[in-house]
Amino acid sequence: MTYFENAENRGHESVHQFYDSQTGLKAIIAIHSTALGPAAGGTRMWQYDNEDDATTDALRLSRGMTYKNAMAGLPMGGGKAVILADSNSPPSDELFLAFGRCVDSLAGRYITAEDVGVTVDNMRMVKRVTNYVAGLPPVVGSAGGDPSPWTADGCFLGIQAAVRHRLNAESLAGMSVAVQGVGKVGYDLCRQLHAAGAKLLISDVNEANLSRVQSEFNALVVPTDQILFQDVDVLAPCAMGAVLDGQSIPGIKASVIGGAANNQLATEEDGLSLFERGILYAPDYVINGGGIISVAFEYMGHKTESDVHAQIATIPERLVDIFAMSDKQQKPTNVIADSIAESIVTAGV
Ligand code: NAD
Repeated sequence: MTYFENAENRGHESVHQFYDSQTGLKAIIAIHSTALGPAAGGTRMWQYDNEDDATTDALRLSRGMTYKNAMAGLPMGGGKAVILADSNSPPSDELFLAFGRCVDSLAGRYITAEDVGVTVDNMRMVKRVTNYVAGLPPVVGSAGGDPSPWTADGCFLGIQAAVRHRLNAESLAGMSVAVQGVGKVGYDLCRQLHAAGAKLLISDVNEANLSRVQSEFNALVVPTDQILFQDVDVLAPCAMGAVLDGQSIPGIKASVIGGAANNQLATEEDGLSLFERGILYAPDYVINGGGIISVAFEYMGHKTESDVHAQIATIPERLVDIFAMSDKQQKPTNVIADSIAESIVTAGV
């Protein structure tokens, strides 16, 4: 598939490539939809094997943001930026200033924030040259700041709802949860799961992140190639996407899958495989919407932390609706979620 076919097939409004000779910045900003409002979605900085992979990631993630924002009840469309990381040159403040000018050139059609590989400090640099950014240090009590803890909140509430639905359990006490990736979101999710009495099994390729969660939350460390296949109640993918595929799904023993990672299903058909195996999958862009709720409320202004809490509380309600429709219609949860999101975008409200 060519670059343009790739964008056209996924229904994008526009895709923008940026290169800055001074800093070496190479970035792609994909705007999937502005039907509900400006296209909002974070910036991912990653070492891609090639430019095609980076483009495909931007296209997939931005489409996911359209669905995520619609399902979170936000007046925002979907977009995403990726910066192609260069292992020979660590990211500088100048690089993020250059990136901010790229965002600014889109005149508000795209609103950025943090994603994997990007920090609040990086966004502070972006803010120096554009107002089309959120995820900045908040005023106490106001919405804003690092979205990760809010994403973890939504995931925790979503896992509770899924466990209630599938395992008929009111509490997570004694439940076993395998968490793949204990970075910003994974750490906070583990903190809440531990506090709720869950038993944690964790894996990560980053030793520092791993040992922090192991010691603080009494978690059992599992090799990275085995975390998906643990005999647990819940699997929480919180690292990278496409981990649920034809190779991994037959070996999954968890009854429930709910985690922060974007694009967990390698293909839409993998949702059907999970459904046929009787595994309850909480669609990723629904359960992980807490961060974008915080980002959007910060950007909109005049919103408090309580407003963010209240909106995140709608995530489990939305999931329960999806689970019930999946049971009734005997269709996979990802298919149900896509059809709800598409109808919200089409209605334009
Ligand atoms: P992060 O970079 O802080 O954490 C990711 C962790 O996964 C890191 O510790 C990394 O070492 C680990 N990891 C990478 N490859 C791994 C592998 N093969 N096996 C095990 N661990 C591995 O990122 P984050 O902000 O915590 O985000 C995690 C996921 O959630 C990403 O997919 C992100 O797109 C998604 N997400 C994040 C937010 C947010 O608010 N941060 C919001 C929505 C979705």
